[in-house]
Amino acid sequence: MSTVIETNPPVLLEQGGLEGIEATGCLPSPSGVALEIMRLCQSDDASLEQIARIAKSDPALAARLIKASNAPALARSRPTLAIRDALMVLGMPVVRQLALGFSLVAEQARGACDGFDYGQFWSRSLLVALAAQEVGVRVRVMDPEELFSCGLLADIGRLALASLFPRDYSQLLRAAMHGSEAEIAALERARFATDRDQLTQALLGKWGFPKTLLSGIAARRDPGELNQGESGRVRQIADALRLAERIGDACLANEDERRSQLAPLLLDAARLGLDGEGLTAISKGTLRDWRDWGRLLKLPAQHGVADLDFGQQEGENSAAEGKAPGAEASAPLALLVDDDASMLPFLSALVRRGGFRVKTASNGREALDLAMRLRPRMVITDWVMPEMDGVALLRALRETRFGRGIYTIILTGMEDSERLVEAFNAGADDYVAKPLVPRVFEARLRAAQRIVGQQDELGRDVDEIRRFASELAVNNRKLQTAVMTDPLTGVPNRRYAMERVEQEWAAARRRGGPLACIVVDVDHFKRINDNHGHDAGDTVLRNVAQRLRSGTRLQDAVCRIGGEEFLVICPDTSEADAYAHAERLRVLVAELRHEGLPATVRPTISLGVASIVPAGGGAAELVKLADRAVYRAKSEGRNRSAIVRAGDELPE
Ligand code: GH3
Ligand code: MG
Ligand code: MG
Repeated sequence: MSTVIETNPPVLLEQGGLEGIEATGCLPSPSGVALEIMRLCQSDDASLEQIARIAKSDPALAARLIKASNAPALARSRPTLAIRDALMVLGMPVVRQLALGFSLVAEQARGACDGFDYGQFWSRSLLVALAAQEVGVRVRVMDPEELFSCGLLADIGRLALASLFPRDYSQLLRAAMHGSEAEIAALERARFATDRDQLTQALLGKWGFPKTLLSGIAARRDPGELNQGESGRVRQIADALRLAERIGDACLANEDERRSQLAPLLLDAARLGLDGEGLTAISKGTLRDWRDWGRLLKLPAQHGVADLDFGQQEGENSAAEGKAPGAEASAPLALLVDDDASMLPFLSALVRRGGFRVKTASNGREALDLAMRLRPRMVITDWVMPEMDGVALLRALRETRFGRGIYTIILTGMEDSERLVEAFNAGADDYVAKPLVPRVFEARLRAAQRIVGQQDELGRDVDEIRRFASELAVNNRKLQTAVMTDPLTGVPNRRYAMERVEQEWAAARRRGGPLACIVVDVDHFKRINDNHGHDAGDTVLRNVAQRLRSGTRLQDAVCRIGGEEFLVICPDTSEADAYAHAERLRVLVAELRHEGLPATVRPTISLGVASIVPAGGGAAELVKLADRAVYRAKSEGRNRSAIVRAGDELPE
């Protein structure tokens, strides 16, 4: 049964969206500032000023946007210095995607899935992003900055799996340590009834990435002959991303591996019209930018061209601060923030006595950075500090999902009620008046310790409940997949087809656009069974299903609705386009060689085409027309496509 699930196309996620699975864990999600920018960029009346103001509130993001707008790709005479200019140069869709990408890198630099190497994941993603951007500069596929975002997020589904199923995914990755990417993806499907690619599509779709980009990202794994229905642009995007991934992998590979990757690399470059020289220039540009960007994005272990060995990275990670060995290591971590260096030893001693491990920072900006990396359970911060004060720090922390769970105490010299209200509004859990009275401070720490302890217990319960919920969701999805899948061919079955066509009908009706259906029937199929046996017939059915699937766009559905009958559902497709698609499928199937069967077994198909802009009626009407059309194709001699429109007279 497992092969059924593994060959199933990404239809169920499309159908069910992220809902079922979202409830079971924390999907990667952008932070407050990025969300706000994404929202503003989508509304028609948002002004550049508004967006600039929001972007400025996150200095790191502002810096990255300015840097992006000054990328050599955009080759302008003068560099951009102001955020407003940067936004203008980049354009809203790009700003939106970049804000999203950067916020994810910042938010998801670490996580709970032990077997998943977050640092390496982002380092590689960044490498691929920069390579994609460089490719975009030389091959005018599309905006290089958009390619950057695609490259950065093309594998976000892997991160999603790590976030949704930290324990199980960790286990899976460890067990499959030496497996190929395809093998790991197959294990993902078997274990979670979904995989990185499906989740990538779902997440990017949810974040508003345009369809063309999504299709390009999806198609990048299949070179040339697959998905012949895709447009040339989608294929170019796919080729560009594919090449970028190869460059990224080659940069990260050791000497031996790299040599074996050279031939396919050159081949992929050639598909985009690039020669060896172009490729060298792209790789050089990529590596040059990688270090800069890595520093800006605070990614771990940036290595130069000469030492791209990521083996070293693990050592650096495990030596990270805040993970001191010994009994004390299990104590919760507290972060102390004060610009007055003479205060820190005194505070530290008290906090350690209160049962915490301690890290220190000398201003809000440094503290925010440390907090994101070390994930403390408590932050004790002074109010007035240079660069970023305590209240701004608390606000910034509370904007992140992780920061909302930190217990925070602010130190204040002034105990007037206005100030206290401001502190609590910014997200302080408690305050302590300066000068500190040790006994009072220690009492406050005991309260903090109690709350952190309770949170831990609650966290454990929540983890347990999450685990049950995710088990349940996985099982449900497996069941749902099995119920909706045809076991012989692995494509969705009649039941799915009928539900899907109803959904598409409703969607087309809302859009006011056309919906097309193609009924496919194998010609003289009975003869194959009669002459070569039932198994031969089964082989032919599997091959035909596979060919229909690979010859059809991802957003279309190919389903088996009867013995040797298939239904292709094509949203937003006119009659003329559907007819052209039917003819393409007809030729593809006629060209098929059926391995293991005599060469004389060369079945053809007849196709019935119908396309309607839904008004009244229901989807059944459309399927019926396509059904009648296939009869027409049969009666006109088979191995052809025919169209039937409402009202056409047909000989019964
Ligand atoms: P036409 O060109 O008019 O479509 O002729 P046909 O022989 O294809 O049509 P017909 O409907 O007479 O025969 C369909 C055959 O498909 C009959 C049935 O035994 C066979 N069939 C149905 N399901 C399966 C299956 O799962 N495997 C195999 N091997 N054969 C199947
Ligand atoms: Mg039939
Ligand atoms: Mg038939």
